[in-house]
Amino acid sequence: MRAEIIGVGTELLLGQIANTNAQYLSDKLALEGAGVYFHQAVGDNLERIQQALTIAASRSEIIVLTGGLGPTEDDLTREAVSRFLGRNLELDAGMLMKLEQLFAGMGRKMPTNNRKQAMLVEGGRFLDNPRGTAPGQYIEADGCHYFLLPGPPTELKPMVTDHVLPILRDLMGQQGTIRSRVLRLFGIGESAMEMEISDIISNQLNPTVAPLASEGEVTLRITAKAASEEEAFALIIPVEQQLRQRLGKYIYGIDDETLPVTVGKRLKDRGETLALAESCTGGLLASMITDVPGCSVYYKQGWVTYHNEAKSEQLGVSSDILAQHGAVSEECARAMAEGARTRAGTDWAISVTGIAGPDGGTNEKPVGLVYIAVTGPGGTTVKQFNFRGDRQQIRIRSAKNALYSLVR
Ligand code: ATP
Ligand code: MG
Repeated sequence: MRAEIIGVGTELLLGQIANTNAQYLSDKLALEGAGVYFHQAVGDNLERIQQALTIAASRSEIIVLTGGLGPTEDDLTREAVSRFLGRNLELDAGMLMKLEQLFAGMGRKMPTNNRKQAMLVEGGRFLDNPRGTAPGQYIEADGCHYFLLPGPPTELKPMVTDHVLPILRDLMGQQGTIRSRVLRLFGIGESAMEMEISDIISNQLNPTVAPLASEGEVTLRITAKAASEEEAFALIIPVEQQLRQRLGKYIYGIDDETLPVTVGKRLKDRGETLALAESCTGGLLASMITDVPGCSVYYKQGWVTYHNEAKSEQLGVSSDILAQHGAVSEECARAMAEGARTRAGTDWAISVTGIAGPDGGTNEKPVGLVYIAVTGPGGTTVKQFNFRGDRQQIRIRSAKNALYSLVR
């Protein structure tokens, strides 16, 4: 069955909000084996919502609309579906009473506007919304299944789990599931990786292999369609092994094992601790480390020493180093890491110092020049990087490379 999601709301088209409902629904529907083939976004306009429905009904069997179920004039989804299907909107006495009671429970009289929310498309049924006043609707018509869901994600999500997915499971019987395995790589670019495995990528239909790159990190998603989870992984695993044979040295984790998670696991397994000394990343590295719940077991403390004085006062970087080599130097990175390790009394410390730009670069020390030092039980190593990109990209790449220095 082909599924399509229509996001209704002018704010989507104005760029005021991102269509996270489409993302959420796509993920959930895929897990149920209902492939989402199209997303549409349309404004709060009766004509255009009907146009979107015409297109959707011509190519999809499952059509999920989100938004536009509120009580106000610009909430037009019910009306548009009713007109498109040529079915009346009927006031449902039971739902009207329920809404009136809901308002009475809040000590308020129901505004007449909200009567709209008790209007059901002929032949449809309501989907309960425990978090808001707008009930959803499910309508079957001419071989298509329409789901009308409210816009606010906090209302939509439980309704998807409680109503939409059970109906889909029933509809699809044993149509199966879609499962993925994500391989996480570092130290190889997207195009170099694609060259290594282009034959595997182009020869795969089930599972498919899809690369994705972001800020120095690359992932490969292997996705299989099958009758059951076990069968899906029976398809995925041989392809994963093939990819590992070619790219094994770059793969540091799978699925949710991001760089900070992997660093955390390694430190925790060995019972070791970490301190950080950051300059150009300004705390980004600490933020990534502390994104992982439970990190206090291995992460002890960090310093953001932006000014030269702070590097000397807080971390003991000598004035000789700063005068002779400058803050962006191998020597300074080394002294920052070693100073952090000694002062924090940890097993490991990482330091980052560099020029994130856009200003401050020279011929000798251009924007993007970054030194990362790692010090641990076996001594200190410092690596020099020359990153490209804007300030934010340079900072993100610096932080990720600093994390990766503990994974290797
Ligand atoms: P309400 O009863 O709140 O008016 P509604 O069903 O009419 O709900 P909308 O008015 O379209 O929904 O949207 C209400 C809010 O829900 C939006 O302001 C926005 O915050 C959120 N929202 C709507 N559509 C989406 C979407 N596709 N993705 C993420 N959030 C959305
Ligand atoms: Mg609304």
